Formats: sequence, C-alpha cells, structure tokens
Amino acid sequence: MSHSSTLSATRARFRSQRIERFTESVIREMTRRAIQENAVNLAQGFPDFSAPEPLKRAAAEAIVADQNQYSITWGAQPFRNAIAAKYRRDYGLDFDPEREITVCCGATEGMIASLLAVLNPGDEVVLFEPFYENYGPDTQLCGASARYVTLHAPDWTFDPEELRRAFTPRTKAIILNTPNNPTGKVFSREELGLIAELCQEFDALAITDEIYEHILFDGATHVPILSLPGMRDRAILVNSLSKTYSVTGWRVGWVLAPPDLTDSIRKVHDFLTVGAATPLQHAGVRALEFGAEYYRQVTESYAERRNHIVTSLEAVGFQCFLPRGAYYVMADISSFGFPDDHSFVTHLLGKAKVAAVPGSSFYARAGGGRQQIRFCFCKKYETLEVVRHHLNCLLK
Ligand code: GLN
Repeated sequence: MSHSSTLSATRARFRSQRIERFTESVIREMTRRAIQENAVNLAQGFPDFSAPEPLKRAAAEAIVADQNQYSITWGAQPFRNAIAAKYRRDYGLDFDPEREITVCCGATEGMIASLLAVLNPGDEVVLFEPFYENYGPDTQLCGASARYVTLHAPDWTFDPEELRRAFTPRTKAIILNTPNNPTGKVFSREELGLIAELCQEFDALAITDEIYEHILFDGATHVPILSLPGMRDRAILVNSLSKTYSVTGWRVGWVLAPPDLTDSIRKVHDFLTVGAATPLQHAGVRALEFGAEYYRQVTESYAERRNHIVTSLEAVGFQCFLPRGAYYVMADISSFGFPDDHSFVTHLLGKAKVAAVPGSSFYARAGGGRQQIRFCFCKKYETLEVVRHHLNCLLK
C-alpha cells in the first residue's frame, strides 16, 4: 500500500493488469527501513557472516580463468553434472543432466520460470498460508489464482479436509516450501503423502521450493515430494546455492523436472534471463563437492543461533513458535498490547533498533498474522548478542 501515491501518478494506459494488485515486497521494504534507522536487520533473510573461503576462491579463480561468457542457457555442464551427483548422493535419486536439470538465476527465477511454463490464465494454484511472499505475485503474473490452506500455529498443522477442498478441477499445481519460510515447519512424510495423493487424484503438479533442505533441527528430516510413489512425473523441484552456502547475492539456482516439463521451463528461462552467471556456476561445482562435515556444521551452527534468538525473544515477552527448519522464527506479539503487526514492527525498529517482518505480509486473508512477526537468525553470534541487548529495552 505504501506505493499507492506512486501508482496513482502512473498513467493507467502504461500499467499492466498483471501488476495491478502488486504491493511492494514488505521484506525488502523492511531492509530499507533498517538501513535508514541504523538498525540490526533481522527482516530480509541473508547472512551477515562470510561465505565459505573455498567458494570465494573458486569464484575468483573461475573469473581469472576466463569463465566469463554465456554458459549453455540451461546451465554449464559441469554444474549440471554436480547437481545430478548431489541428488544421487543425498537421496539416491537419478536426474539426467541433459534432460531434467535447468540452472536459473536463483530459486526465485526457478519458481517463476516453472510457473510460467505450466500455468494458463484461469488455472488455480494451492498455497499454504502463511507463505513466502513471492508465490502470490508469481501466480498473478501467470494469470492464475491462488487458493489458500491454513497452517495452524503452534505446530503449523493443516486440516486434510481443508486441503482436499482447495483442490478443484481447475487446480494445476500446489506450491510447497519445506523446510518452510516463514514458519520453520518441516512437512512430514505422512503430510507429503496426503498432498501427493491429491496431486494424483486431481492431475496436478507439486512445485517445491527446497532451498532450506539442509537447515534442519531436532532430528527433523527433509523429504523431497518427488521421491514419493507416483510423484516423479508430476513434481518440479526448485533449489539454489543461496541458503546452504551463504551466497544469497550470487543468484544461482536450479530446477529439476521430468523431460517434457524441463523442455518448457528451459524455453521460458532462455527468454527471461539467458542464463545464470558462468563463473558462479563453476564455483557451484566446488560447493556441491563439500563433504558431510560442512552440512553437519551448517545444522549445528543454525541450531545454536535458533536457541539463542528464541531465548532472547521469550525473555522479553514474545511467544515463539519453535522452528524445526529454515532460519526464521515466527513470534506472537499479543503480550505487548499493540493493535497490529505493522505498528509493533515500527515500535521495535524505533525503540530497540531491530528490524523484523510484519506477519501479515505472509497472509492473504484479512487479519491473518496481525499478532505475529518474523525474525531471521542467519546472523553472527555477535549480532545476536547485540539483538539480545537491544531487546531488553522493550522491558523498560
Ligand atoms: N528469502 C529471504 C526472506 O524471506 C529473502 C527474500 C527476498 O528478498 N527475496 O527474507
């Protein structure tokens, strides 16, 4: 809504109907406000610590070695081979690098390219709510409409009957993000089984955003829905280097899909972006070669950070919904007595110099998330200590 004055000034003739209902990304707006207020940014989910040294070196070496021109539009071959090897190693799944893998500019492009490749105007897409804010606009850009299924706090469970009611003969796909942003929910094999059954019954696709697959707590395990019986032909898996390897600015992601769908996705991808950055794809080969110890460290260090921030938040009156994966925590703000999430976020920014995301930006239905806000905790230990100290002023 903050753009309404700019929008009304735009001549209607030059305003595409596709973007008419768009609002500014609240996550990125909060990053801007954090910079203005000189606050700690726990809004937009990106690390404030260094990327792994071997990756930085591999990227620099690729540039020096003159890997600086276009790669094949669907991805440099060594990188596609490394992606195939990763899925074989981690899940025992075989993907053909020539026909089933497309490298994109981040999972963001992977998702929109996939949706543009499979949706027609009038199609319906099922989304779990709360949801990562891109999926709504992505669906609208395709002229499709979203049907929402509520994830209920504190465990973010869903009602199987509500899920079934969301599927109709017009349903083309369900978008699933597990481990989930913003809730930290990790969908269980049983829940995925229910979704898989509905996809088969209604002849729909499961399009999954699995970028937090390696950030798991308390023994949670990640299951790609395409590994379930009958799903290999009706699933599109989107992933990226961003979160696992702390390189959110590289914009290198990939899409796994059966050959016919890959064909369509590659066509969209080619005309959207031609390709992802070549030297960074070569560095990506190095990333995907990391051994088990790297992933153990990722999990362990994020578990420590999660425990740190949850303790800080609960000490000053937030009620946290403990995440089982990803690097965000949704917190209930009812005990502070504010009318809504936006006024509370502004208070938090001004008083404690900490930026968070208002919960309502993850909901479509009016009133959803009004007493929730999201913090990210992909930050240095020192940053989390500063946050603990700053939050104390909420008690005064
Ligand atoms: N995925 C990150 C988040 O949810 C970054 C969002 C973005 O800027 N696209 O905060």
